[in-house]
Amino acid sequence: MKLVLIITMAVVVLGISVSFISVQGQQDYDIPQWVKNNAGWWADDSIDDESFVNGITYLIDSGIMEINIDSTIQDQGDFYLTYKQNPNSPYVGDDTAIAWLKNVELLEMEMAFLNETFRLPYDVEIVAQECNEVNAFYDPESKQIVMCYELVDDVFDMYYYFYGEEPSFDMDEMQTYSYDVLNFIFFHEVGHALIDVYQLPITGLEENVADQFAALMLSYTYYEETGDYSLGQEMLYNVGTWFYNEHYYWNEVYPQEMTSMDNTFEYDIPYWGNHNLDMQRFYNISCYAYGSDVKYSQYLIDDGWLPEERAQNCEWEYYQMDRNWSILLKDFDYGFFD
Ligand SMILES: [Zn+2]
Repeated sequence: MKLVLIITMAVVVLGISVSFISVQGQQDYDIPQWVKNNAGWWADDSIDDESFVNGITYLIDSGIMEINIDSTIQDQGDFYLTYKQNPNSPYVGDDTAIAWLKNVELLEMEMAFLNETFRLPYDVEIVAQECNEVNAFYDPESKQIVMCYELVDDVFDMYYYFYGEEPSFDMDEMQTYSYDVLNFIFFHEVGHALIDVYQLPITGLEENVADQFAALMLSYTYYEETGDYSLGQEMLYNVGTWFYNEHYYWNEVYPQEMTSMDNTFEYDIPYWGNHNLDMQRFYNISCYAYGSDVKYSQYLIDDGWLPEERAQNCEWEYYQMDRNWSILLKDFDYGFFD
């Protein structure tokens, strides 16, 4: 009884499947009597664990019992969402970042998608909160994805800085743009989280890998009514525009910080840092958009946003991202990445 119970528990907890090989017809398992005695004595506490394990080891070594270790993991956790609010926070009114985030349900929708898609070994919290800085990050210690309200504000502010005075300025467009940029940033942090939670074997800078994951996820986005993936393309353009504008924003707002004395910085980004420069991230995003749909994104080349020299390789770059993320995640998802 105890043997069966223990094996059943192993199957549940570790995802190990055990089968007995029948060597004498359908029903007879050729399990030596001494092993049966062993199991009984172990269940009675008459023999110690080591003797019992020796018996099981014999069954495995002799091929009577077969153990298949399944590399997939059990779904024992979920992404869950928390909106934090400080009592003295400026983020309390109906026109603030927290209200907007809740209203557009970006995090709720992506969380539902993630929980449908991935098997997690434990919970991962998505936290929207005040951070006293413009940021979003994944914390591998606490297993938290943090989206700062200051970042939401900053995305809106910068859009307004560049386009607010234009006659064509449109509130809806600003919201769509901000939604897309924050969606990308969120998936970038999810990329960090998946790399940590599943201990994915990446090589190369994790920041670049997280950008690739985020770009890939946006490229999979389509209009629900038509199934048209041009929605993902448009989202990537907005993200590219954000990186492009970031580059000029720092140039214009903080020109004295454009280069440090030792020339190790461009604007806010150090050359020695683990993030690519904003303008490099703009070209990468443009390349991934073009690579995922060369027809739709042909204008990126025609209008001079993406140089031909880089564009030549973009279909291959996108194919590699698409294929390799499927390989990385195949043991952890419910088939989305097949
Ligand atoms: Zn990052």
